[in-house]
Amino acid sequence: MKYADEFRDPVAARGVLAAIEAAVDAIGATAEKPVHIMEICGGHTHAIFRYGLDKLTPAGLEFIHGPGCPVCVLPMSRVDECVDLAERPEVIFTTFGDAMRVPGTRKSLLQAKSEGADIRMVYSPLDALDLARRNPDREIVFFGLGFETTTPSTALSIQQAAREDLTNFSVFCNHITVPPPIRALLEDPFMTLDGFVGPGHVSMVIGVEPYRFIAEEYGKPIVVAGFEPLDLLQSVLMVLIQIRDGRAEVENQYARVVPDAGNPVSIAACADVYEPRDRFEWRGLGEIDKSGLKIREPYAAYDAERKFGIGYGAGPRFVAEPEGCRCGDVMTGRIKPRQCPKFGTECTPEMPLGALMVSSEGACAAYYQYGGGALEAAE
Ligand code: SF4
Repeated sequence: MKYADEFRDPVAARGVLAAIEAAVDAIGATAEKPVHIMEICGGHTHAIFRYGLDKLTPAGLEFIHGPGCPVCVLPMSRVDECVDLAERPEVIFTTFGDAMRVPGTRKSLLQAKSEGADIRMVYSPLDALDLARRNPDREIVFFGLGFETTTPSTALSIQQAAREDLTNFSVFCNHITVPPPIRALLEDPFMTLDGFVGPGHVSMVIGVEPYRFIAEEYGKPIVVAGFEPLDLLQSVLMVLIQIRDGRAEVENQYARVVPDAGNPVSIAACADVYEPRDRFEWRGLGEIDKSGLKIREPYAAYDAERKFGIGYGAGPRFVAEPEGCRCGDVMTGRIKPRQCPKFGTECTPEMPLGALMVSSEGACAAYYQYGGGALEAAE
């Protein structure tokens, strides 16, 4: 297949759906005792509901929506620190647009901007570098947020700033990595996970090897998947076939884009600029060892945490979630979004209470936008 519409072909989809139904039957899964497959990535959650895959697949298959949306897992304490930084008169705070509406304790970045803070939306950290060149009398802070997909571009920008000896550019680094929270979920005695669909764009950078522990240590299959409906259906089928056959392996459905070894240039840039933090807080999941990245000592001049005396170096800063917010339970698959009492009432995309309603990749936003879980809500 070559063109996007071929990955949305209804005739081909019907064939894969029939095979999925047969595999679910062969496993013996039913609506009462379903097989649980976690799609790790928020982009996959969005695609599942956008294309109605949750309604097309059999009742014996349940999707568990994973923590793979960086905006959604950003703890409130880090949002507060963004706002504190942005409100400094000398700072121009730069960020991707999807972080603007995440609620903090006092306010979101969007509210801070409306009150006069100099916050600019950018499409790339290179835009922030350009601002630094053009505004030598201001401090330009880039909000580095995201998984392995976006860590390389931030790393390359820091390397470029070092080459140019730009002294007014720094990064508030909130980059995180996918494998540690998956391990944390697999260690959770209350989680029932039978297999995983892995994020294809993350594997474009890191390859498939970092997921080997899921199969070898925990005996669960994982298939790295693309983002079109047929990609997802085929990946789910590949996971089900492994379960049916009693196998647990790492497979790559997205081989047209993902090399098994990832992208060596990106991996080298990240290894040069970052090192793992001992721990990092995830909204709804708590602190997870080695799950966040910090900027290495040789690039300390570009680390906003060191430059402005904030972040983990300034001591722990935990902030409780808003009362009644069930984001953590949704993110760990304990409840579905519609089972949160705030869903669609006190929490909507226009006025989000929790982060899962903010980003288009958040499970609650996907349910709200595409009507996911209507049957389950009616039960
Ligand atoms: S509906 Fe809102 S508060 Fe409830 S879990 Fe979803 S994002 Fe969180």
